[in-house]
Amino acid sequence: MSVVSETPAQAADRPDPTGVRAAQLVERLGEVRRRIAQACVRTGRDSDEVSLIAVTKTFPAEDVRTLAGAGVLDVGENKDQEARSKRDRLTTEFPGQYSSVRWHHVGVLQRNKCRSVMTYAAAVHSVDRLSLVRTLGAEADRAERTMEVFLQVSLDADPGRAGAPAEQVAELADEVAATTGLTLAGVMAVAPRNADPGQAFARLADVSGRLRADHPAAVGMSAGMSADFVEAIEHGATHLRIGTALLGGRPPTLG
Ligand SMILES: *Cc1c(COP(=O)(O)O)cnc(C)c1O
Repeated sequence: MSVVSETPAQAADRPDPTGVRAAQLVERLGEVRRRIAQACVRTGRDSDEVSLIAVTKTFPAEDVRTLAGAGVLDVGENKDQEARSKRDRLTTEFPGQYSSVRWHHVGVLQRNKCRSVMTYAAAVHSVDRLSLVRTLGAEADRAERTMEVFLQVSLDADPGRAGAPAEQVAELADEVAATTGLTLAGVMAVAPRNADPGQAFARLADVSGRLRADHPAAVGMSAGMSADFVEAIEHGATHLRIGTALLGGRPPTLG
């Protein structure tokens, strides 16, 4: 067997008879939780206001099981097909056991995937344009459900990157609020590369404050990844999206 050519998903999808992988995940989870708790204490925040979303993209359903078994019931994925296949696998192999896992869509979302995402996701963190709000709203109605929506804000000047400019957030928020099938959860951002994440999250906190003036229930702030979740907590993040620090590195092309 050529271990070298395996992707992390394939490698981790091999049976884990000795429980080495599971033990590694549980250990990293303990470390991440410890750092979250410390940051909360230091900034005077209640750790109940901070949810950990394990971003399991490129890693197998088995890892989702392990993390769920350790109490992580929020899981993030950035590709519809991959998320759906993991969800289906857990549902088929372990009927009823993982029904409390909440799937979060955290990546770019194409309108033609909205119907599929509606079948399993609890929340979409990457809503950044009116056309997407409208399609998600129509699909939520069709599925007779509600979907939680975070508005993704672009914190850098690069128009090629995901997220709406801060000036468009109010309009998007009003549209979400006026859509019966959607619930406005709050804002989301990814800190720009090569910039101080603290400054970026301070700007996001500012956008969040303005949003809450019009939509008081939209208190969510989805911010913070493996490299910057402490700064995100300091600036008020309510949902941390953490992959690498829990699951390990991903090949660059897949992450
Ligand atoms: C991959 C991803 C994450 C997790 O990133 P890590 O650096 O591995 O923690 C968080 N948010 C989004 C939108 C992602 O695509």
